[in-house]
Amino acid sequence: MKPAPFAYAKAKSLDHAIELLAHPDGEARLLAGGQSLIATLNMRLSAPKLLIDLNGVEELSGIAVNNGMVEIGALTRHVEAERSDEIAEHAPLIALAMPHIGHAAIRNRGTLGGSIAFADPAAELPACLVALGGEVEIAGPRGRRTVKADDFFMGLFETALDPGDVLTAIRIPAATPGTRVGFAEFARRHGDYAMVGLAASAQLDGQELGDVRLAYFGVGNTPVRATKSETALVEGKIDDAVAALNLDPSDDVQATGAVKKHLAGVLLRRVAAQLMETSR
Ligand SMILES: Cc1cc2nc3c(=O)[nH]c(=O)nc-3n(C[C@H](O)[C@H](O)[C@H](O)COP(=O)(O)OP(=O)(O)OC[C@H]3O[C@@H](n4cnc5c(N)ncnc54)[C@H](O)[C@@H]3O)c2cc1C
Repeated sequence: MKPAPFAYAKAKSLDHAIELLAHPDGEARLLAGGQSLIATLNMRLSAPKLLIDLNGVEELSGIAVNNGMVEIGALTRHVEAERSDEIAEHAPLIALAMPHIGHAAIRNRGTLGGSIAFADPAAELPACLVALGGEVEIAGPRGRRTVKADDFFMGLFETALDPGDVLTAIRIPAATPGTRVGFAEFARRHGDYAMVGLAASAQLDGQELGDVRLAYFGVGNTPVRATKSETALVEGKIDDAVAALNLDPSDDVQATGAVKKHLAGVLLRRVAAQLMETSR
Protein backbone atom coordinates (compact mmCIF):
# COMPACT_ATOMS: atom_id res chain seq x y z
CA MET A 1 0.00 0.00 0.00
CA LYS A 2 1.00 3.61 -0.44
CA PRO A 3 0.53 6.37 2.14
CA ALA A 4 -2.26 8.91 1.94
CA PRO A 5 -1.04 12.22 0.45
CA PHE A 6 0.88 14.47 2.82
CA ALA A 7 2.88 17.69 2.68
CA TYR A 8 6.56 17.68 3.61
CA ALA A 9 8.64 20.31 5.40
CA LYS A 10 12.28 20.11 6.39
CA ALA A 11 12.94 21.66 9.79
CA LYS A 12 15.96 24.00 9.77
CA SER A 13 16.28 24.07 13.57
CA LEU A 14 14.53 22.89 16.72
CA ASP A 15 12.63 26.19 16.96
CA HIS A 16 11.57 25.85 13.32
CA ALA A 17 10.25 22.32 14.01
CA ILE A 18 8.23 23.60 16.97
CA GLU A 19 6.90 26.45 14.83
CA LEU A 20 5.86 24.06 12.05
CA LEU A 21 4.17 21.78 14.60
CA ALA A 22 2.22 24.70 16.05
CA HIS A 23 0.40 25.67 12.85
CA PRO A 24 -0.34 22.53 10.88
CA ASP A 25 -3.14 22.41 8.36
CA GLY A 26 -4.43 19.18 9.95
CA GLU A 27 -2.36 16.65 11.87
CA ALA A 28 1.44 16.97 11.69
CA ARG A 29 4.01 14.30 12.55
CA LEU A 30 7.74 14.49 13.10
CA LEU A 31 9.90 12.29 10.89
CA ALA A 32 13.13 11.00 12.45
CA GLY A 33 14.55 7.69 11.18
CA GLY A 34 11.21 6.77 9.62
CA GLN A 35 11.61 3.10 10.58
CA SER A 36 8.29 2.98 12.41
CA LEU A 37 6.49 6.03 11.03
CA ILE A 38 6.80 5.16 7.34
CA ALA A 39 5.42 1.68 7.96
CA THR A 40 2.38 3.12 9.75
CA LEU A 41 1.84 5.58 6.86
CA ASN A 42 2.17 2.87 4.23
CA MET A 43 -0.33 0.70 6.09
CA ARG A 44 -2.56 3.76 6.47
CA LEU A 45 -2.63 3.32 10.23
CA SER A 46 -2.00 7.05 10.34
CA ALA A 47 -2.55 9.76 7.75
CA PRO A 48 -0.99 13.06 8.87
CA LYS A 49 -1.37 16.04 6.57
CA LEU A 50 2.22 17.22 7.18
CA LEU A 51 5.52 15.44 7.83
CA ILE A 52 8.17 17.58 9.52
CA ASP A 53 11.60 16.14 8.81
CA LEU A 54 13.99 16.50 11.75
CA ASN A 55 16.95 15.02 9.87
CA GLY A 56 19.71 17.59 9.64
CA VAL A 57 18.77 19.47 12.84
CA GLU A 58 22.29 19.25 14.26
CA GLU A 59 21.39 20.34 17.80
CA LEU A 60 19.35 17.13 18.25
CA SER A 61 22.28 14.76 17.61
CA GLY A 62 25.22 13.64 19.68
CA ILE A 63 26.33 11.98 22.89
CA ALA A 64 27.82 13.95 25.79
CA VAL A 65 28.89 13.06 29.33
CA ASN A 66 28.57 15.96 31.77
CA ASN A 67 28.23 16.22 35.55
CA GLY A 68 27.67 12.50 36.01
CA MET A 69 24.97 12.29 33.35
CA VAL A 70 25.01 10.86 29.84
CA GLU A 71 22.93 12.93 27.42
CA ILE A 72 21.96 11.41 24.09
CA GLY A 73 20.39 13.68 21.47
CA ALA A 74 17.06 12.51 20.09
CA LEU A 75 18.33 12.26 16.52
CA THR A 76 21.30 10.06 17.46
CA ARG A 77 21.07 6.92 15.32
CA HIS A 78 21.01 3.51 16.97
CA VAL A 79 24.24 2.65 15.12
CA GLU A 80 26.03 5.67 16.58
CA ALA A 81 25.12 4.60 20.11
CA GLU A 82 26.04 0.99 19.33
CA ARG A 83 29.54 2.04 18.22
CA SER A 84 30.13 4.81 20.76
CA ASP A 85 33.00 4.46 23.25
CA GLU A 86 31.18 6.88 25.58
CA ILE A 87 28.08 4.69 25.62
CA ALA A 88 30.16 1.52 26.18
CA GLU A 89 31.91 3.11 29.16
CA HIS A 90 29.24 5.31 30.71
CA ALA A 91 25.95 3.68 29.64
CA PRO A 92 26.71 -0.06 29.46
CA LEU A 93 23.03 -1.08 29.63
CA ILE A 94 22.31 0.85 26.41
CA ALA A 95 25.34 -0.82 24.83
CA LEU A 96 24.02 -4.28 25.81
CA ALA A 97 20.55 -3.56 24.43
CA MET A 98 21.55 -1.97 21.13
CA PRO A 99 22.37 -5.13 19.08
CA HIS A 100 18.88 -6.49 19.90
CA ILE A 101 17.09 -3.60 18.16
CA GLY A 102 15.97 -4.79 14.75
CA HIS A 103 18.69 -5.39 12.18
CA ALA A 104 21.71 -3.38 11.06
CA ALA A 105 19.76 -1.60 8.30
CA ILE A 106 17.15 -0.45 10.82
CA ARG A 107 19.80 0.67 13.31
CA ASN A 108 21.51 2.71 10.56
CA ARG A 109 18.45 4.97 10.26
CA GLY A 110 16.42 4.55 13.46
CA THR A 111 16.99 7.09 16.23
CA LEU A 112 16.96 6.87 19.99
CA GLY A 113 14.46 9.71 20.21
CA GLY A 114 12.17 7.98 17.71
CA SER A 115 12.20 4.77 19.74
CA ILE A 116 11.42 6.57 22.99
CA ALA A 117 8.72 8.77 21.42
CA PHE A 118 7.10 5.84 19.60
CA ALA A 119 7.01 3.90 22.91
CA ASP A 120 6.42 0.43 21.52
CA PRO A 121 5.76 -1.72 24.60
CA ALA A 122 8.05 -4.46 23.22
CA ALA A 123 10.94 -2.08 22.47
CA GLU A 124 14.24 -2.29 24.31
CA LEU A 125 15.14 1.38 24.85
CA PRO A 126 12.07 2.53 26.80
CA ALA A 127 12.71 -0.28 29.31
CA CYS A 128 16.42 0.63 29.52
CA LEU A 129 15.51 4.24 30.22
CA VAL A 130 13.19 3.16 33.05
CA ALA A 131 15.73 0.67 34.44
CA LEU A 132 18.36 3.41 34.57
CA GLY A 133 16.07 5.93 36.24
CA GLY A 134 16.60 8.24 33.27
CA GLU A 135 14.73 11.28 32.07
CA VAL A 136 13.41 12.76 28.85
CA GLU A 137 14.06 16.30 27.65
CA ILE A 138 11.16 17.91 25.81
CA ALA A 139 10.81 21.23 23.98
CA GLY A 140 7.45 22.65 22.97
CA PRO A 141 5.50 25.85 22.45
CA ARG A 142 5.52 26.51 26.21
CA GLY A 143 9.28 26.02 26.59
CA ARG A 144 11.39 23.15 27.82
CA ARG A 145 10.68 20.56 30.47
CA THR A 146 12.15 17.35 31.86
CA VAL A 147 10.03 14.25 32.54
CA LYS A 148 11.26 11.25 34.51
CA ALA A 149 11.19 7.98 32.58
CA ASP A 150 8.87 6.49 35.25
CA ASP A 151 6.28 9.15 34.33
CA PHE A 152 6.93 9.40 30.59
CA PHE A 153 5.39 6.12 29.38
CA MET A 154 1.69 6.52 30.11
CA GLY A 155 -0.10 3.82 28.10
CA LEU A 156 -0.02 1.81 24.89
CA PHE A 157 2.02 3.99 22.46
CA GLU A 158 1.09 6.89 24.75
CA THR A 159 3.65 9.20 26.34
CA ALA A 160 3.91 12.52 28.14
CA LEU A 161 4.62 14.24 24.79
CA ASP A 162 1.93 16.72 23.72
CA PRO A 163 1.12 17.12 20.00
CA GLY A 164 3.28 20.29 19.71
CA ASP A 165 6.31 18.78 21.48
CA VAL A 166 9.69 17.61 20.24
CA LEU A 167 11.65 15.09 22.29
CA THR A 168 15.12 16.63 22.25
CA ALA A 169 17.27 14.22 24.31
CA ILE A 170 17.34 11.51 26.91
CA ARG A 171 19.53 11.66 30.02
CA ILE A 172 20.74 8.83 32.21
CA PRO A 173 23.07 8.70 35.20
CA ALA A 174 26.59 7.79 34.07
CA ALA A 175 27.77 4.40 35.34
CA THR A 176 30.08 4.41 38.39
CA PRO A 177 32.51 1.63 39.42
CA GLY A 178 29.70 0.09 41.50
CA THR A 179 27.10 0.13 38.73
CA ARG A 180 25.91 -3.26 37.53
CA VAL A 181 23.59 -3.79 34.60
CA GLY A 182 21.83 -6.77 33.10
CA PHE A 183 19.89 -7.35 29.91
CA ALA A 184 18.17 -10.37 28.37
CA GLU A 185 15.30 -10.98 25.99
CA PHE A 186 13.46 -13.77 24.22
CA ALA A 187 12.66 -13.13 20.56
CA ARG A 188 11.69 -15.69 17.95
CA ARG A 189 14.59 -14.56 15.76
CA HIS A 190 17.42 -12.22 16.64
CA GLY A 191 16.32 -8.71 15.69
CA ASP A 192 12.60 -9.35 16.11
CA TYR A 193 10.70 -7.41 18.72
CA ALA A 194 10.97 -9.30 22.01
CA MET A 195 8.31 -11.69 23.29
CA VAL A 196 9.57 -10.77 26.76
CA GLY A 197 12.62 -8.79 27.79
CA LEU A 198 14.25 -7.43 30.92
CA ALA A 199 16.58 -4.47 31.44
CA ALA A 200 18.10 -3.97 34.88
CA SER A 201 20.49 -1.83 36.84
CA ALA A 202 21.84 -1.92 40.39
CA GLN A 203 24.65 -0.65 42.58
CA LEU A 204 27.02 -3.26 43.99
CA ASP A 205 28.44 -2.47 47.43
CA GLY A 206 30.86 -5.24 48.40
CA GLN A 207 28.81 -8.39 47.82
CA GLU A 208 25.47 -6.62 48.33
CA LEU A 209 23.18 -5.35 45.62
CA GLY A 210 21.36 -2.08 46.23
CA ASP A 211 19.11 0.26 44.26
CA VAL A 212 17.93 -2.59 41.99
CA ARG A 213 15.65 -1.49 39.14
CA LEU A 214 14.01 -4.14 36.96
CA ALA A 215 12.10 -2.98 33.86
CA TYR A 216 10.34 -5.60 31.74
CA PHE A 217 9.22 -5.05 28.16
CA GLY A 218 6.74 -7.02 26.05
CA VAL A 219 4.57 -7.81 29.08
CA GLY A 220 2.26 -4.79 29.30
CA ASN A 221 1.31 -1.50 27.67
CA THR A 222 4.46 0.25 28.89
CA PRO A 223 7.77 -0.83 30.44
CA VAL A 224 6.80 -2.55 33.71
CA ARG A 225 8.83 -2.24 36.94
CA ALA A 226 8.88 -5.46 38.99
CA THR A 227 9.14 -3.65 42.30
CA LYS A 228 8.54 -6.57 44.68
CA SER A 229 11.20 -8.59 42.88
CA GLU A 230 13.59 -5.65 43.16
CA THR A 231 13.22 -5.76 46.96
CA ALA A 232 13.78 -9.52 47.06
CA LEU A 233 16.94 -9.20 44.96
CA VAL A 234 18.33 -6.60 47.33
CA GLU A 235 17.85 -9.23 50.06
CA GLY A 236 19.71 -11.75 47.88
CA LYS A 237 16.64 -13.99 47.52
CA ILE A 238 16.45 -14.96 43.86
CA ASP A 239 13.72 -17.60 44.26
CA ASP A 240 11.62 -15.08 46.18
CA ALA A 241 12.26 -12.50 43.48
CA VAL A 242 10.91 -14.85 40.82
CA ALA A 243 7.91 -15.78 42.98
CA ALA A 244 7.17 -12.10 43.61
CA LEU A 245 6.99 -11.12 39.93
CA ASN A 246 3.97 -8.80 39.82
CA LEU A 247 3.38 -9.17 36.08
CA ASP A 248 0.12 -9.94 34.34
CA PRO A 249 0.95 -10.20 30.63
CA SER A 250 -1.89 -10.70 28.17
CA ASP A 251 -1.94 -13.40 25.52
CA ASP A 252 -0.73 -12.15 22.15
CA VAL A 253 0.19 -13.59 18.75
CA GLN A 254 3.58 -14.71 20.05
CA ALA A 255 2.68 -16.44 23.33
CA THR A 256 0.10 -16.85 26.04
CA GLY A 257 0.33 -14.66 29.12
CA ALA A 258 1.27 -17.73 31.17
CA VAL A 259 4.21 -18.53 28.89
CA LYS A 260 5.36 -14.93 29.02
CA LYS A 261 5.23 -14.93 32.80
CA HIS A 262 7.26 -18.14 32.92
CA LEU A 263 9.84 -16.62 30.53
CA ALA A 264 9.96 -13.49 32.70
CA GLY A 265 11.10 -15.67 35.60
CA VAL A 266 13.77 -17.35 33.47
CA LEU A 267 15.06 -13.94 32.35
CA LEU A 268 15.12 -12.71 35.93
CA ARG A 269 17.50 -15.51 36.96
CA ARG A 270 19.81 -14.71 34.03
CA VAL A 271 19.79 -11.00 34.67
CA ALA A 272 20.28 -11.45 38.44
CA ALA A 273 23.44 -13.46 37.67
CA GLN A 274 24.69 -10.62 35.44
CA LEU A 275 24.02 -8.07 38.20
CA MET A 276 26.01 -10.14 40.71
CA GLU A 277 29.14 -10.33 38.55
CA THR A 278 31.79 -8.61 40.64
CA SER A 279 34.76 -8.50 38.26
CA ARG A 280 34.04 -5.72 35.81
C1 LIG B 1 11.59 -4.63 10.64
C2 LIG B 1 11.74 -3.74 11.85
C3 LIG B 1 12.14 -4.32 13.05
C4 LIG B 1 12.28 -3.53 14.19
N1 LIG B 1 12.67 -4.13 15.34
C5 LIG B 1 12.77 -3.38 16.45
C6 LIG B 1 13.16 -3.97 17.69
O1 LIG B 1 13.44 -5.17 17.78
N2 LIG B 1 13.23 -3.17 18.78
C7 LIG B 1 12.93 -1.82 18.72
O2 LIG B 1 12.98 -1.14 19.73
N3 LIG B 1 12.58 -1.23 17.57
C8 LIG B 1 12.50 -1.97 16.44
N4 LIG B 1 12.14 -1.37 15.28
C9 LIG B 1 11.82 0.09 15.28
C10 LIG B 1 13.08 0.94 15.20
O3 LIG B 1 13.82 0.83 16.38
C11 LIG B 1 12.72 2.41 14.99
O4 LIG B 1 13.89 3.05 14.67
C12 LIG B 1 12.10 3.16 16.14
O5 LIG B 1 10.98 2.55 16.67
C13 LIG B 1 11.60 4.53 15.72
O6 LIG B 1 12.68 5.35 15.50
P1 LIG B 1 12.73 6.25 14.22
O7 LIG B 1 13.84 7.21 14.42
O8 LIG B 1 12.77 5.41 13.00
O9 LIG B 1 11.35 7.08 14.32
P2 LIG B 1 10.24 7.41 13.24
O10 LIG B 1 9.75 6.17 12.61
O11 LIG B 1 10.70 8.50 12.36
O12 LIG B 1 9.12 8.01 14.23
C14 LIG B 1 8.40 7.17 15.10
C15 LIG B 1 7.39 8.02 15.88
O13 LIG B 1 8.07 8.86 16.81
C16 LIG B 1 7.82 10.24 16.54
N5 LIG B 1 9.08 10.93 16.75
C17 LIG B 1 10.26 10.63 16.19
N6 LIG B 1 11.23 11.44 16.67
C18 LIG B 1 10.62 12.27 17.54
C19 LIG B 1 11.08 13.34 18.38
N7 LIG B 1 12.37 13.71 18.43
N8 LIG B 1 10.18 13.98 19.17
C20 LIG B 1 8.89 13.61 19.17
N9 LIG B 1 8.39 12.61 18.40
C21 LIG B 1 9.24 11.95 17.60
C22 LIG B 1 7.34 10.28 15.10
O14 LIG B 1 6.51 11.40 14.85
C23 LIG B 1 6.58 8.97 14.99
O15 LIG B 1 5.29 9.11 15.55
C24 LIG B 1 12.02 -2.12 14.12
C25 LIG B 1 11.62 -1.54 12.91
C26 LIG B 1 11.49 -2.34 11.78
C27 LIG B 1 11.09 -1.69 10.48
